[in-house]
Amino acid sequence: MKRNKLLEKIGFRYLVNLKSKEIHRVSFLKESCNLSVMVHAFYAPKLLVLILLRYGFNGCCHCYTSKNNES
Ligand SMILES: [Zn+2]
Repeated sequence: MKRNKLLEKIGFRYLVNLKSKEIHRVSFLKESCNLSVMVHAFYAPKLLVLILLRYGFNGCCHCYTSKNNES
Protein backbone atom coordinates (compact mmCIF):
# COMPACT_ATOMS: atom_id res chain seq x y z
CA MET A 1 0.00 0.00 0.00
CA LYS A 2 0.94 3.65 -0.23
CA ARG A 3 1.16 6.12 2.63
CA ASN A 4 -1.64 8.63 3.04
CA LYS A 5 -0.15 11.80 4.53
CA LEU A 6 -3.57 13.38 5.07
CA LEU A 7 -4.81 10.51 7.24
CA GLU A 8 -1.54 10.57 9.14
CA LYS A 9 -1.96 14.30 9.75
CA ILE A 10 -5.43 13.94 11.23
CA GLY A 11 -4.34 11.36 13.75
CA PHE A 12 -4.29 7.96 12.09
CA ARG A 13 -0.74 7.17 13.17
CA TYR A 14 -0.83 3.39 12.91
CA LEU A 15 -1.00 0.83 10.12
CA VAL A 16 -2.76 -2.43 10.83
CA ASN A 17 -1.78 -5.43 8.72
CA LEU A 18 -4.71 -7.85 8.82
CA LYS A 19 -2.80 -10.66 7.20
CA SER A 20 0.15 -10.76 9.61
CA LYS A 21 -1.83 -9.24 12.52
CA GLU A 22 0.98 -6.74 13.00
CA ILE A 23 0.67 -3.08 13.84
CA HIS A 24 3.14 -0.46 12.56
CA ARG A 25 3.72 3.10 13.77
CA VAL A 26 3.94 5.49 10.84
CA SER A 27 6.46 7.77 12.59
CA PHE A 28 8.91 4.90 13.01
CA LEU A 29 8.40 2.92 9.79
CA LYS A 30 11.51 1.13 8.53
CA GLU A 31 12.46 -0.37 5.18
CA SER A 32 12.09 -3.77 6.80
CA CYS A 33 8.40 -3.11 7.55
CA ASN A 34 7.84 -3.71 3.81
CA LEU A 35 4.96 -1.29 3.49
CA SER A 36 5.05 -1.58 -0.29
CA VAL A 37 4.09 -5.26 -0.23
CA MET A 38 1.28 -4.91 2.31
CA VAL A 39 -2.10 -5.57 0.78
CA HIS A 40 -4.56 -6.14 3.61
CA ALA A 41 -3.65 -3.10 5.68
CA PHE A 42 -5.49 -0.02 6.88
CA TYR A 43 -4.89 3.14 8.90
CA ALA A 44 -6.07 3.19 12.50
CA PRO A 45 -6.08 5.66 15.40
CA LYS A 46 -4.43 4.82 18.73
CA LEU A 47 -7.65 3.85 20.49
CA LEU A 48 -8.43 1.12 17.99
CA VAL A 49 -4.82 -0.09 18.09
CA LEU A 50 -4.98 -0.53 21.87
CA ILE A 51 -8.09 -2.68 21.47
CA LEU A 52 -6.57 -4.78 18.66
CA LEU A 53 -3.45 -5.43 20.76
CA ARG A 54 -5.69 -7.08 23.34
CA TYR A 55 -7.21 -9.31 20.70
CA GLY A 56 -4.13 -11.05 19.36
CA PHE A 57 -2.48 -8.33 17.26
CA ASN A 58 1.23 -7.70 17.78
CA GLY A 59 3.43 -4.63 17.52
CA CYS A 60 5.89 -4.70 14.61
CA CYS A 61 9.38 -5.79 15.71
CA HIS A 62 10.93 -2.94 13.67
CA CYS A 63 8.78 0.11 14.41
CA TYR A 64 6.59 -0.75 17.42
CA THR A 65 8.91 -2.74 19.67
CA SER A 66 7.25 -1.59 22.90
CA LYS A 67 4.21 -3.68 21.94
CA ASN A 68 6.06 -6.55 20.26
CA ASN A 69 5.57 -9.71 22.29
CA GLU A 70 8.46 -11.57 20.69
CA SER A 71 11.25 -9.15 21.59
ZN1 LIG B 1 6.84 -1.86 11.24
